[in-house]
Amino acid sequence: MTDTPKTDATRCKKRLIDHSMAFPRYHQCKFKAKTDGYCAKHHPDAVKKRTVEKAARWEAKRKNSPLQIIKRQAERIAQLERELAATEKAADDADTDKLRAIGLYESAAKERDAAVSRLKALVDGMREKRLL
Ligand SMILES: [Zn+2]
Repeated sequence: MTDTPKTDATRCKKRLIDHSMAFPRYHQCKFKAKTDGYCAKHHPDAVKKRTVEKAARWEAKRKNSPLQIIKRQAERIAQLERELAATEKAADDADTDKLRAIGLYESAAKERDAAVSRLKALVDGMREKRLL
């Protein structure tokens, strides 16, 4: 079955799929052609703009997804663990008491512990909400 419908030059040239049939049927967009033979909705620039905006919305949503939040927290914890390991090594190499007095080790350890408990609370909260 070949279907080659006539094109109405006064209307938008976008072909739309008719989903009311079991097989795909196409029809011309019903709106008047405004720019370059397209209506405001189907002009390539408008389509591109919507695609970009949709991608931006999706990216923002993805960034705040439970998994991404946990990943960021876990990365921060890993970074603090590395700092602690480096500080411990420095403490072994140099005067341990002196470094402890400066408070480098304690503050890094405190921040790590706080980050770990925040992550635990976050995971518990998400489990309660059945997000995980
Ligand atoms: Zn159109």
